[in-house]
Amino acid sequence: MSSIIEELQSTVKKLLEDGTVGYVIGWGATRFPDRTTPVFITRPEDAHKLVWNHYCVNGTAKYALDDRYPEKKIGIIIRGCDSRAVNRMIQDNQLKRENLYLIGIPCDGKENPVCEGCQHKNPLVYDVLIGTPVEEKINPDRFKEVAEFEKLSQDEKYEYWAKQYDKCIHCYACRNVCPACNCKECYADQYRVGWQGKQNNRNSNQVYGLTRAFHVGDRCIECGECERVCPMGLPIMRQTKKMLKDINDLFGDYECGLNDSRPHVLGEFDLQDRDEFM
Ligand code: SF4
Ligand code: SF4
Repeated sequence: MSSIIEELQSTVKKLLEDGTVGYVIGWGATRFPDRTTPVFITRPEDAHKLVWNHYCVNGTAKYALDDRYPEKKIGIIIRGCDSRAVNRMIQDNQLKRENLYLIGIPCDGKENPVCEGCQHKNPLVYDVLIGTPVEEKINPDRFKEVAEFEKLSQDEKYEYWAKQYDKCIHCYACRNVCPACNCKECYADQYRVGWQGKQNNRNSNQVYGLTRAFHVGDRCIECGECERVCPMGLPIMRQTKKMLKDINDLFGDYECGLNDSRPHVLGEFDLQDRDEFM
């Protein structure tokens, strides 16, 4: 691990020294040994502040959205999930690939349950790779939890989600962290009559959650960030996984963010589409 950190730090130092990038987004230490924090490294002499360990859990890519028109390229240290997030945001016309310099780093899984089912530990796109690729594994249980949930009755499902959304405090952390939630203006922030209510109650919370689930349904990269940051412990990914499972059942193998050009399942129209429900 130490040689990877050294390689990472020296690569970032050089990129800043020769002006390839204006700054680099990565992970830095905190005062807690089991926590890291996203950092923005702007000076070569600060490259030693970058860390790479089991606790580098935060997604790095979404921070680039705060700087859509950078003077110099933005350096981003990316794992497999972060590379899918980059693809996601390029595909959504939110980022331009030419504005990014991607420092790929193969990932062996972090302190995050979602990593156990990860099918893309190596970055799918990068400009430079730190270390050597790790072995990839297909997750045969990708939709196991959803399949179990589908066995419940309609009333049981409603009761389950009603209880979950009674806990939601409408903080929008799940939206803010999500690379697929990248609209410049979000429906949830609208105040005019006719948009979603701002009340913190079951109906309003459910409308928010379900609308968000549908909005990211065919674009979710399964990074698990929404669930990781939810302060109330809502199993949000069950909703997006249900959407992805349905898409897989209807259209075949489908994963989002594997490249930056694949069309959206729910955003495309074709005269040959099945329309037996019309
Ligand atoms: S797992 Fe959650 S945070 Fe990640 S892309 Fe899907 S909805 Fe967004
Ligand atoms: S992060 Fe959790 S509590 Fe906050 S809005 Fe999302 S579901 Fe609700």
